[in-house]
Amino acid sequence: MLRTHTCGDLRPSDLGKEVCLQGWVRFSRDHGGVAFIDLADRYGITQVVFDPEATKDVDVNALGAVIDTFSRESVVQVNGTVRNRVEGTEDERNPTGAIEVLIRSAKLLNKSAIPPLEIGDQKEGVLPGEDVRMKYRYLDLRRSEMIHAMEFRSRFLHLAGQYLESQKFIEIETPILGRSTPEGARDFIVPSRIHPGTFYALTQSPQLYKQMLMVASMDRYYQVARCFRDEDSRKDRQPEFTQLDMEMSFVDSKDIQDMIEGLVAFIWKGLYNEDLQIPFRRLPYPVAMEKYGSDKPDLRYGLELHTLTEVVKDAPYNIFQKIIANGGIITGINIKKDLAGDKIGRNEVDRYIAYVKKIGMGGLTWMRAKDGTLDSNIVKYFTPEIIENLKKEMEVEDGDLLFLLAGPRKATLEGAGTLRRKLAEDLDLIPKGVHDFFWLVDCPMFDVDPVTGKKDAFHHPFVLPDEKYEEGFCFDLCLDGNELGSGSQRIHDVEVQKEVFRQLGMSEEKMEEDFGFFLRALSYGAPPHGGIALGIDRFVTILLGKDTIRDVIAFPKNKVGTSLLDDSPAKVDDDKLDELQIMSMAIDDIEFDEEETEE
Ligand code: ASP
Repeated sequence: MLRTHTCGDLRPSDLGKEVCLQGWVRFSRDHGGVAFIDLADRYGITQVVFDPEATKDVDVNALGAVIDTFSRESVVQVNGTVRNRVEGTEDERNPTGAIEVLIRSAKLLNKSAIPPLEIGDQKEGVLPGEDVRMKYRYLDLRRSEMIHAMEFRSRFLHLAGQYLESQKFIEIETPILGRSTPEGARDFIVPSRIHPGTFYALTQSPQLYKQMLMVASMDRYYQVARCFRDEDSRKDRQPEFTQLDMEMSFVDSKDIQDMIEGLVAFIWKGLYNEDLQIPFRRLPYPVAMEKYGSDKPDLRYGLELHTLTEVVKDAPYNIFQKIIANGGIITGINIKKDLAGDKIGRNEVDRYIAYVKKIGMGGLTWMRAKDGTLDSNIVKYFTPEIIENLKKEMEVEDGDLLFLLAGPRKATLEGAGTLRRKLAEDLDLIPKGVHDFFWLVDCPMFDVDPVTGKKDAFHHPFVLPDEKYEEGFCFDLCLDGNELGSGSQRIHDVEVQKEVFRQLGMSEEKMEEDFGFFLRALSYGAPPHGGIALGIDRFVTILLGKDTIRDVIAFPKNKVGTSLLDDSPAKVDDDKLDELQIMSMAIDDIEFDEEETEE
């Protein structure tokens, strides 16, 4: 190695040493013929100085000419002596900030084009738009914040692997080119050249492979697995993402949860040197929906929902009556006076009304608690007894502001949950730097469409159902209002698996066609088993307090699934398509029939 140290290494204990550093010219300034250069690499920044007066036995003119070529972000090498910085110019925020290197010789290793973004310490607002960061991602990644994110992610995964290996898990890679199956999201399809007209699908998750690994007696499997789902862009989704995927044999739900708690606590200790409080709380799904309007609520603040259907059911208020008759729900949030409920004025209330309409709710009923009673245009329908019960249920005191939502059960609870989150943001109730894990448990096996009665798997069709096929033995790990991952006990009896497929509306032929291979595997002594997968991108994003998962992925796609770095997806040459026996469908190749399009 030519370099003797990295740009983060040198300290006052190195004074007088002859060193060689290599790195990038982050910043340079000239003070009356003395050049100060911030030399940067992944490990830090060291100030190196060209000081002709202080440099003996060296052709300083020649050296100066080399230093003059050191443009921003060029990669250079300097040799020199470690010395103290001039008193008063030390930089305490930088670990190398007490020393500098007096340059005795230097070399330009590779000149950089003028960088389109500022890489040095970001002052507020200096960072360019995300498009520029994506296009020049290799420069964006040079920023210390991004380097830290990459190092943190790497450490996280390393700790996970270390723990799982210690628990006898083996890492097994499963195929990325698999079979297109109808469950879950849309597949990315890959045409086969050797078998024209047939296609692989990029695997949405290793689910079936990991279950077959249990049939294969592997007992404990894990993988840092890349998963591919062709979904429309949503806020924090990427077409490819990473899961820490696991499966275990001869376990029940508690065994899997215990294992994950041990894993997360181990990672926590490794990252923060702190003991994480385990076991995590359990929150039943029906309670989560009823109290928080979400299957992954943020429990770090209150603003709980109160179901009021029973309380107001006798009020002769038409809208409520209709909703109740149709099996709907009335739910409310109390914005207490001490959360500034009394400061939310009429205009703001109107904005919340507009907000709930925007998220698809019919409307918002509101009331203020004043002089021991409630003030609202609907209280005329309430008997004193209803008012008293409502106040009791919602723990109302003077100065509180009440928001009520009414409508079909699930949609209304979800709407109220979204409103709850919005209020928490607006009222600044979400604590920073505090994390809260819990398990969502007691989930249903199926989501049933209230209108058509059609069933969808609540998690996926491989979850072990209870005897009535109503609840599934499945659970979600949640953190700060996010779902980190889902796990479950799996079906290991082929007949139960077929029954679940049947309840999902699958014919015997379709079952055989799409899942015959898997049903066959289950029929050869599949052990009781279960597992889970944790979303690594999201987990790391939350721990680092980032706004988007794109900030913890080296080369992400943008919000519309495009990689601005290499401009994918892109057209391919016709001869490549010919080989695959695929016709080019590029828009500009499509010939319009003029006559037909004339009108
Ligand atoms: N395969 C599931 C998923 O992708 C996780 C699991 O059940 O292990 O979300």
